[in-house]
Amino acid sequence: FLSLSLQAEMSRPVQARRLEGIDKNIWVEFVKLAATYSKVNLGQGFPDFPPPDFLKEAFLRAVSGENKMLHQYTRAFGHPPLVKTLAQFFGKLLGRDLDPMTNVMVTVGAYQALFNCFQAFVEEGDEVIIIEPFFDCYEPMVKMAGGTPVFVPLRLKAPKDGELMSSADWQLDPAELASKFSTQTKAIILNSPNNPLGKVFSRGELEVIAELCVKHDVLCISDEVYEWLVYDGKEHVRIASLQGMWDRTVSIGSAGKTFSITGWKVGWTVGPNRLLQHLRTVHQNSVYHCATVAQEAVAQGFQRELEHYGKPESYFVQLPKELQQKRDWLVQSLDAVGMKPIVPEGTYFLVADISEFKSDVPDVPDSDEPYDSRFAKWMVKNKGLAAIPLSAFYCEAHKNSYSHFIRFCFAKEEATLKAANDILQKWKQEKTSP
Ligand code: PMP
Repeated sequence: FLSLSLQAEMSRPVQARRLEGIDKNIWVEFVKLAATYSKVNLGQGFPDFPPPDFLKEAFLRAVSGENKMLHQYTRAFGHPPLVKTLAQFFGKLLGRDLDPMTNVMVTVGAYQALFNCFQAFVEEGDEVIIIEPFFDCYEPMVKMAGGTPVFVPLRLKAPKDGELMSSADWQLDPAELASKFSTQTKAIILNSPNNPLGKVFSRGELEVIAELCVKHDVLCISDEVYEWLVYDGKEHVRIASLQGMWDRTVSIGSAGKTFSITGWKVGWTVGPNRLLQHLRTVHQNSVYHCATVAQEAVAQGFQRELEHYGKPESYFVQLPKELQQKRDWLVQSLDAVGMKPIVPEGTYFLVADISEFKSDVPDVPDSDEPYDSRFAKWMVKNKGLAAIPLSAFYCEAHKNSYSHFIRFCFAKEEATLKAANDILQKWKQEKTSP
């Protein structure tokens, strides 16, 4: 009996090979640190202010209204009212007729949309071009699908004297980008507006990417979750609207970012049926179905936005206006203490240079951990302020490329941003007083 129970313990390896090297996740570590130590959390990207009333009311109506079917499964590829309104909305933005049933699919947040794309399109041995710094999940998702990530960096141009740096100062070298395309390249993943920098790719920059995609017959997975969060009158250009791109692009969006409801986890993909049919195959064999009430409420939110499109009462007009002000407050706070901000053109993130604070967190020359990561950990433990190191948005081989920056999220209440400012001011005073 004893020998049987000993035998019952498994000795064979259990982990599938596809999980090799992707077990670490920056968010698991930093979310835990923030929960344990932070007084002010500007780390993970989510608003601490409430979503718009019309959306909360739509959710309540969906839950407690007459239609009891809203508590049951709905269509696997998207609740009909939601795909219909998304098709109308994005049809208008892209200037083409979209079929709600074949050109749109709803997912569990943009995260699942990304996962579906990599699973559907990436074959063993395929290369996928990723622009650094990048939203960290792209790399493990490509690897899990059997693909090889190929990285190309945005490089920071030297700032002009006396001027604040801008996310526009981070640029791709067109020749370097072109050199990454090969016969193995299956797709490029584009994220504009970009997390973590807040860079909004210009039409010219997107045209360079589009030309290469067409020339090498490559797919474009376009992560546009921050599509409404652009500032200073900048324009968000949809790469799917450029010459030759509709046919090869999947555009990804998120109600979480769009309506300040990251916890609802409603996302979508828009693209030609030729591509979306394969996303549906992954979807029907994995998640299958997304929460009905959340989809119903988001559908109503989009319907409202369609009616108020471009008008001052539109949430997609109001939210960026409010966030631009918050961005400016945080830029000022950081600049005042010498933590040099890179002013973002979009998103609700901002990256700041920590070089002037280096004396507080001495370097450990042989450490394998990038400096900014040790700095961010020290800061949350000693100052109670949580942020994310920029190195977390680089692959292992390039993690020290720009490791003297940390990323802050400014989608926060005034009181939260003020509390962050107080911490920074106090810190600066302690540094300067003898
Ligand atoms: N893409 C980017 C660039 C993101 O920043 C995020 C969320 N942080 C996502 C995708 C995932 O979005 P969702 O919460 O809708 O899954």
